[in-house]
Amino acid sequence: MSPKHVTPEGLNSNANPGASSGSAVSGLVIAAADANEVMREQLEYLIEHAGNGTCGCPQCHRYLRARALLMEIFAYSRSCAGERDNLISA
Ligand SMILES: [Zn+2]
Repeated sequence: MSPKHVTPEGLNSNANPGASSGSAVSGLVIAAADANEVMREQLEYLIEHAGNGTCGCPQCHRYLRARALLMEIFAYSRSCAGERDNLISA
């Protein structure tokens, strides 16, 4: 998994230019701080990739998994409505 373009803003890149590829500790800190940004970029990338239909590649599978997770709330409310209908009709 490689983010397409992670913007260096907020990473304090001029403090220690070698740190971004060197230390694992600073890498973890950066990953934690930019996780939301990376997720947003990955989502945009996957949506863009699967926008015209899924082709079955690993990116499409990631898109489908992410969509299933993010759409869980709708699936849940649908199943609640279904259960309610079942209760009413029973
Ligand atoms: Zn694909």
